[in-house]
Formats: sequence, C-alpha cells, structure tokens
Amino acid sequence: MSSYAAFYRQSIDERDAFWAEQARRIDWHTPPQTICDYSNPPFARWFAGGTTNLCHNAVDRHLAARAQQNALVAISTETDTERAYTYAELHAEVQRMAAVLQALGVRQGDRVLLYMPMIAEAAFAMLACARIGAIHSVVFGGFASGSLASRIEDAEPLVVVSADAGSRGGKVVPYKPLLDEAIELSRHKPAAVLMVDRGLAGAAMRAGRDHDWAALRAQHLDAQVPCTWVDATHPSYTLYTSGTTGRPKGVQRDTGGYAVALAASMRHIFQADPGDTYLCTSDIGWVVGHSYIIYGPLIAGMTTIMYEGLPIRPDAGIWWSIVEKYRVTHMFSAPTAVRVLKKQDPAYLSKYKLSSLKALWLAGEPLDEPTAQWIGSALGVPIIDNYWQTETGWPILTLCNGVEPQAARLGSPGKAVFGYNVKLIDEATGAELTAPNQKGVVAIEGPLPPGCLQTVWRDDERFVNTYWKSIPGRLIYSTFDWGIRDADGYYFILGRTDDVINVAGHRLGTREIEECIASHPNVAEVAVVGVADALKGQVALAFAVPKNAAGLEAPEARLRLEGEVMKLVDARLGAVARPARVHFVSALPKTRSGKVLRRALQAVAERRDPGDLTTMEDPAALAQVKALVTE
Ligand code: AMP
Repeated sequence: MSSYAAFYRQSIDERDAFWAEQARRIDWHTPPQTICDYSNPPFARWFAGGTTNLCHNAVDRHLAARAQQNALVAISTETDTERAYTYAELHAEVQRMAAVLQALGVRQGDRVLLYMPMIAEAAFAMLACARIGAIHSVVFGGFASGSLASRIEDAEPLVVVSADAGSRGGKVVPYKPLLDEAIELSRHKPAAVLMVDRGLAGAAMRAGRDHDWAALRAQHLDAQVPCTWVDATHPSYTLYTSGTTGRPKGVQRDTGGYAVALAASMRHIFQADPGDTYLCTSDIGWVVGHSYIIYGPLIAGMTTIMYEGLPIRPDAGIWWSIVEKYRVTHMFSAPTAVRVLKKQDPAYLSKYKLSSLKALWLAGEPLDEPTAQWIGSALGVPIIDNYWQTETGWPILTLCNGVEPQAARLGSPGKAVFGYNVKLIDEATGAELTAPNQKGVVAIEGPLPPGCLQTVWRDDERFVNTYWKSIPGRLIYSTFDWGIRDADGYYFILGRTDDVINVAGHRLGTREIEECIASHPNVAEVAVVGVADALKGQVALAFAVPKNAAGLEAPEARLRLEGEVMKLVDARLGAVARPARVHFVSALPKTRSGKVLRRALQAVAERRDPGDLTTMEDPAALAQVKALVTE
C-alpha cells in the first residue's frame, strides 16, 4: 500500500504514465495510442486511438468468471416486486433491448432519450445504447413536460424509451401523458417511442410511432448483438444539468476515459472487489445513478441494486433490510436521505444484521456534522463524504481509502482525488490561493482527468465560455463552488458561486424556475433564491411582483395565486422544482442599475445580515421581504 500523497502526486506529475496504468483495468479492443491528447485545450482527448465498449466492460467481460452471479437486482417497494438478473441474464436482456433499438432504426451516434422510473428495463436500455454505440440521454422521471421538451429538443433523439408510469409513496405518476405533451411542445419529433408497460397506468399508444417493449422483446428473445467497438472519445451519453442561464446544458461524456475513471474509482475510492454488492439509493436520472448504480459497480463485477421507493416505506428499516438480505458491502446515498431517517425510530437500525457493510458514501450536498455523526455511530462503519458534479462524473474530493486509509474530518469531503489538479482561485483577481484556510473558488487545472465532460453537447463555445478561465499560461475549470483548504489538504465546500441551488441533493437552476413562474399571466417579475432548510439542505423561495395587485389584499386571494404558480411549476418543470413558498411583494430589492439583489434576498430569508446595501435602490422592498419571511 503506497502513501496517498505520493499516489496523488504521480497522477499529476506523471499524468500519462499514471493513467496508462489505470487503463489496464478495462478491456480494450485496440489499445490507446495517446494517453492524453491535450493539443487543443481545454478539449482533452483521453486514450485517443483506442477502441473499446462500455457495455462489454460492464457485462460481457464478466461472463467467463461470473455468468451465474447476480449482476442487477431491481427492488421496488412501490410495486412490491423484486427481481435478480445474473450476468448471463443481463447479457441476454441487454441484447434483446439492443436488437429492438436497432429494429427501430438506431445506429451508432444516434441519440436515445430515456424517461423512465427505476426499473430494470432502464438499465437494459442504457447498456443497450452503449452496446451499439448509441448515445443515451436519461431525463429524471420527476421532471415534467417543459423540462423534458427542452431536453428532447436539444438531444434530438431518434427514439425515446419510457414507461406507462412511475410511482412515489404508493402514488402512481403516469409518464406517458407528460411525454406526449413534451413531444408536442418540442420542435424535434422522435421517430419512435418504446413503451414499457408496467400495468400501472396504461398508456394511449400512437399508431406508427409508439411500440410496446414486451411485444418487440418477444420477437428478439434469442437476439445476439455484438458490441460495437467505438473510439475511446466516442460520446457514451449526455446528461442535462442546470446552470446560471435558463437553458439546461447537455454534459457530454466519452467512452474510454469514463470506463477507466470509473474502474479506477471502484478500486482506489471504493475498494470494491468482484462479487461485492453495491446499493446506491440515487436515481438513474442523476449522474450518481449513471456512475454508481449502473456503470461503476458493473465494470467492477459487483452486484448492483436498483431501488424504487422511499427510504421510509413500508418503514424506515427498508434499506437496512436490503443490506441484510443481499449482504450489501458498499452503500451510497445522500445526506438528505439520512436526515429523513434520523427523524424515525432509531430501533430500525439495530433490527437488521448489517455486518456485511464496509462503508457508507454520501454525496450531492454538504454533509453536516450532526448527520454524519448520527449515522456513523448508528452503523459503526466509516461515513465517507464525496464532492463532485454532473460535469465530472466521479468524485473530485474524497478520501481514497483504497490507496491509504485516511481519517475523515467532520465537515470536509476530503482531499483532492487522484487526477484532479484542484486549485483555489481568488474570484476577483483570478490568482491562485496557495496559503491554507483562504476562501476561493474551487477550480481544476486542465486537462480535466478522464471521465469528466468532453464538452457541452453541440456547443463547444458554451463549454469554453461557461467553465474555463485562463490565468497566466494556464486554463482552469471552475466548479462554481466556494471552498477552503486547510494546512493538511482537506477541503471544505461553502456553497455555490452562481444561481444554482441544491434541494435534497437535486441541482436546480433558479433562473429556470423564474422563467417558468414569470410566464404566469399575473406575474410581472420574480426572483427565486435558495434558503437553508434543516431537512432538504435548501428549498426554493419565490418572491413575485403581481401584474395586477388589485384583489390580492385578502390572504385567501394570495394563497390562490400562490397555488396557481406552484401548479404551473409542477406541470412545466416537475414537483422537484416547486418553491416551498411564493411570496407576493410590491417590488423586488434592486441595485440602482436594476440588478435584483439575490444575495440580500437570500440573507434576509435566512434571517442573516444582508451586508452592504449602499447600492440598493429602494430599501422598502427589502423591508417588505423581511416582514413576509418573519410572518
Ligand atoms: P450535481 O451536478 O447535481 O451533482 O450537483 C453538483 C453540486 O452539488 C456541486 O457543485 C456542489 O455545489 C454540490 N455538492 C455535491 N456534492 C457535495 C458535497 N459532498 N459537499 C458539498 N456540496 C456538494
């Protein structure tokens, strides 16, 4: 076992040698010729000249040694179903799905959009796309028609794979009407829609466009679809995420770099061995689901568990019962979920045998000390925070205990992960901050390591302009997070530098929510801010100026309008984006040059000192906000 400091230094100072070594963790059809082609910064082409396939590495590669081992276990407490697929069975299902997609016309490079609940068919579809070189784009099932439409329009999928419905807390959520509406709204029309019928809601099928998965699967039961060997730099998927502007960005990931990065992370971060069992409670609609429900654990030859349902239904012991039953070794979740469990009877944690569990990894939002301490002492295993983003695809900061076990520090997600040349940058001057305990923007010097975004889908310019800054002689990627680093190299994340908020680990752009609310006929202007919340980390609060305030004096009238606005957000963006409250004000606090003072709004809503307000146009506007939030 080497020391982590030396391991990390090698990853930066002898970059190509380091990654050439890691590249041996996956199968190549043609070995790479260049480890990192950075001749056109900030665009990095990892493992150029090599050809491989993500599905081969996740599935086929394991058939020789572990065909009869469970690869995927799909558990739903919503439909009370549980089904395990061995690697051999997964291989067969993925080939059936691949054959069906090919029959619908999908070829290498075509996009396939998935709008699906957490069911095994979603995993089959992702892996089937990877198998034939198609680019998948998974849209979180909690998004509604407007969000879905903008993603369909940008990704231009040839085929959409969906299901009749999802289910949450026992309540069926039909997907098909939202999908039909989204296709109606989108300028791009997919040629085909493949529907998985779960028998939950039924779905009106449009002749000529919509196809039934079960019927087509039956025609391809013996399908043999070989893996298409693609260039290491071939895009494997796009995944949309929110930023400062309203339009979501399609984060584009490669194939070879992603496979190598995940394989390296499974070893050095997770210490995963083939045959281990991984329970990640995220959703395939998020990056954590891509990397650590589907690809990472399968590349490592583990059994991965897909879970559809709430953490407290049928009771707060459900996850621990799964850990006991499947002898889960590795668990990955989010602080929000742990905070939800913390409010339940602690007896649920001692009811099950959890001796198989080696550690719990948490990510997606800051991990507060009480939460970390509570779950740590309840489980008796290490709790490992890890910080990363949709853009990077795998952790930027954590403890790489597979290299050298290191002590966690409360409040810190850990140290820079191998391959990431992490810097702190002074926001005003762009200078690198090298002394300990200084606050700066967390940044990564290019090239980004393997597995990170290649570009923004079809928008290289947006990729360069959004993320990259040059500081003399060097190009630096901004994470848009504030952070500090202590003298021992542990980082602490202090929140976003932009208008992105984090609600229960879900990343939302406040501008997107504002655009939606502003489309209400009686909203003249609106500002949405993220406000600290004990359970969800943050919630969105909206402050709206009505076009016509007459009749809004009565509290019932304001409540009615608030309800309408919330319904609008539910219908367009999805309930995940719904603000906790919509307050109606006569004016928004602005600077004299007309900029909304979002940080002041947020401070007042959090009952903090709003700081320097000398540039404020109308102090009465902020006073009104203060009165409303303390009401
Ligand atoms: P997403 O792209 O949805 O994964 O969101 C990424 C953002 O979530 C980061 O830029 C951070 O603001 C936040 N985040 C993720 N993980 C952590 C963590 N462990 N600690 C603090 N913030 C985090």
